[in-house]
Amino acid sequence: MSKNNRIHAINSIAERLPDAPSASLPADASMASYGEDVFGEKEIRAFMPKSAAAKLLATVNDGKPLDPSIAADVAHAMKEWALSKGATHFTHWFQPLTGGTAEKHDSFIEPVGPARAILAFSGKNLIGGEADASSFPSGGLRSTFEARGYTAWDPTSPAFIKRHANGATLCIPTAFCSYTGEALDSKTPLLRSIQALTKALKRLMAHFGQPDAHVSVTLGAEQEYFLVDRGFYLQRPDLLQTGRTVFGAAPAKHQQLDDHYYGAIRPRILKFMTEVETQLWKLGIPAKTRHNEVAPAQFELAPIFEDLNLAVDHNMLIMEVLRRTAERNGFECLLHEKPFAGINGSGKHCNWSIAYGGRNLLEPGTNPKENAIFLTVLLAVIRAIDLHADLLRASTAGAGNDHRLGANEAPPAILSIFLGDELSAVMKAIETGTSWAARGRTKLKIGVDTLPPLPRDTTDRNRTSPFAFTGNKFEFRAPGASQNCAQNQMVLNTIVAESLDALSDKLDAMPGDFNANLQKLLQRLIRAHKRVLFAGDGYSPDWPKEAAARGLPNLPDTVSAIAPLKAPANQALFEKYGVLNRNEMVSRHEIALEAYERRVRIEGGVALEIARSMIRPVVADEFSKLATAISLAKKDGLKVGVTGLKALSLKLGAGLDDLHVKCERLDKALAKGATKEVIAAMGDLRRTVDALEYLVDDARWPLPKYREMLFIY
Ligand code: ADP
Ligand code: MG
Repeated sequence: MSKNNRIHAINSIAERLPDAPSASLPADASMASYGEDVFGEKEIRAFMPKSAAAKLLATVNDGKPLDPSIAADVAHAMKEWALSKGATHFTHWFQPLTGGTAEKHDSFIEPVGPARAILAFSGKNLIGGEADASSFPSGGLRSTFEARGYTAWDPTSPAFIKRHANGATLCIPTAFCSYTGEALDSKTPLLRSIQALTKALKRLMAHFGQPDAHVSVTLGAEQEYFLVDRGFYLQRPDLLQTGRTVFGAAPAKHQQLDDHYYGAIRPRILKFMTEVETQLWKLGIPAKTRHNEVAPAQFELAPIFEDLNLAVDHNMLIMEVLRRTAERNGFECLLHEKPFAGINGSGKHCNWSIAYGGRNLLEPGTNPKENAIFLTVLLAVIRAIDLHADLLRASTAGAGNDHRLGANEAPPAILSIFLGDELSAVMKAIETGTSWAARGRTKLKIGVDTLPPLPRDTTDRNRTSPFAFTGNKFEFRAPGASQNCAQNQMVLNTIVAESLDALSDKLDAMPGDFNANLQKLLQRLIRAHKRVLFAGDGYSPDWPKEAAARGLPNLPDTVSAIAPLKAPANQALFEKYGVLNRNEMVSRHEIALEAYERRVRIEGGVALEIARSMIRPVVADEFSKLATAISLAKKDGLKVGVTGLKALSLKLGAGLDDLHVKCERLDKALAKGATKEVIAAMGDLRRTVDALEYLVDDARWPLPKYREMLFIY
């Protein structure tokens, strides 16, 4: 029997019986349980008085301001519904700036006398809550003496039930702010940005003579993740503490053969995915596609797009359900952007669009007017990305994503836009005012001509572009797998709102024929911002050089990427649109910087601990055994084997010395608290440890190897 835990883990995976279908969570083909754990329209109508229900639905469906007088009715109905679902507690569910979600459970119990209690939930309980929030990051927004944070009900995202082994909790989506109303969360600025975009879009639509209509910003977030057997995971202190492997030699086979991408899904994974979907469907989350990703042990789940605010909440829940279900199935779900060096990382593609009166504005229309609106909105987005690439880049910054952006499989840290062949030709035709080769000899007249149909699937899907037009939406591919989508969506909404307003301003100032003016305006916009359009290979080493020549920013690491949050012009922009005030911007910069530095230092500490206490003893032991063997062999006058033993001991000895030097260096960098030095020293140490991994007796190597974690499950 091997004493190595790694080998035990492999054996127990090998002995695992083929998975029987899960009895507790069968796949629900009937969809009868879809949304059953959500306080949705059906529940509102069933549990609330008619007139109050109508008022609440007007808020939920049409964005009408909430009538505060119905709070007690809503609270009562929610409580009755939650009790019928077996809930004993309620919580205000919010998204603090840690990047995760937070909840503080209160039971429904209300004492009404000695040894007597009732189950109660008041309008006050529903609308607002108070939490001792001193341990959530505030970036200086909340002084320590004012440690309270306040949660406020978001009626546009429905309450839901979260189940656990011994019961259930009613979760109420809320915003989280300080006593003075400054946002301490991701949801508040997101909601503000949706308002800003709505207002700017309505203003622009009026130029086109469009009647006032409901605006909806939509998001479909594709979530990538890795699954690793927990038997391995628990033996990797780096995965446990940082979410990524700080050591690990490249396996001979990783993803060269592309044989995992879209491959047949293994039964154990399929069982996991089915359980995930069943839970998501109960929560009313429209999980739609599931497949193997490029890297081994990497997968993707994509829901159908929804209203942005709801889609963000749902993505947070998706991440939670993935994690919980993985654990129950003997896996760990890794949402880190780069759990394995040299292997594809995980992103969260954010598919974004805007609809006006139910019509998707990024869908080329069927008549000249719709085409004109489409092109105008498209150019407003292009302008926004060109002018505010730094802000959008900042929204994707973080210690995890630093390993991904700019590496060879993720979109680069340079923001550029891919439009596809057809649309690029349209842009060219407008810009140059020349006849359009693809469509005979005619010139394209905005507002008069119809666009040719833009085939959605023949456009070459440039996977290397960070911001790609994919037929009827933009797909932003830079965000990392673990990040809250609200971060980047809030920025995208704000910069597009600014752009739409800039276009409205220009149109206001242009007298005369509207279509002719628009044509002129779009032409100018293309000329001014075409530098951000790029159809080439974003992974190519030439691209950063060309991008620099074009004047596009390239901010490769977190520290440089978040610096624009401090720029006065950027702060003025966010303040103008009421999304973040100066203090809120400064605090976000501070929080991001601190989180980054802390994470790097934790990684450094973990690397040092593993190298010293797990790797070094094994190498030292093997080396000393070799040294003994060599001296014994010499004493016995052995003619063979000594050369081999010597060669190996030389290599191991050199590795041991190296290990010592590099650990000392990392130790010093950590003591200094110098982030850049820690990163460099960690990389250096990694090279030594990974080289030793190839050398040391496999049976004694203490850390589960890449070839095991990525292939055995
Ligand atoms: P692919 O990326 O393979 O083209 P889809 O076209 O299905 O896949 O889109 C990927 C994601 O984009 C899905 O979550 C989908 O719901 C979402 N999506 C589709 N249309 C829109 C839209 N108008 N707004 C936002 N997201 C959208
Ligand atoms: Mg996609």
